Amino acid sequence: MKYQLSKRSLDNLEGVHPDLAKVMKAAITNSPVDFTIVCGLRTTKQQQEIFAQGRTKPGLKVTNADGVKNLSNHQDEADGKRDGLGAAVDLYPFFLGKVQVNHIDTIARLKEIAAHIKKTAAAMGIKIIWGGDWRKPYDPPHFQLG
Ligand SMILES: [Zn+2]
Repeated sequence: MKYQLSKRSLDNLEGVHPDLAKVMKAAITNSPVDFTIVCGLRTTKQQQEIFAQGRTKPGLKVTNADGVKNLSNHQDEADGKRDGLGAAVDLYPFFLGKVQVNHIDTIARLKEIAAHIKKTAAAMGIKIIWGGDWRKPYDPPHFQLG
């Protein structure tokens, strides 16, 4: 086993759909690059705060989901069921001793991790969608159930 999920990653998988959690737990063991899950299930309030980024708050726009009219897959009720489960995670590569959010190599490493996660999920028969395949917004840290 090359890597394993950190406590931070495991804590952020609390409330994430078991299929997605299963893929992440399998993918980390032989990932080409270590990664840390920084976000899983979000409350409406947390989604609204992220939506405000690049609009009423500083930062880059990272989501088109306002949390009320447009739900994010990070929110429990996005799938129409109030089952306490979110269907998305955000992760970043971990290298040079830390979680790398803004390193010049972050995107390249995320691409390697995404290819590996897609392969792992396909082998498990679980459909995964990667935010790096989107254009608006381009969201390479984001993975959700398909
Ligand atoms: Zn996300």
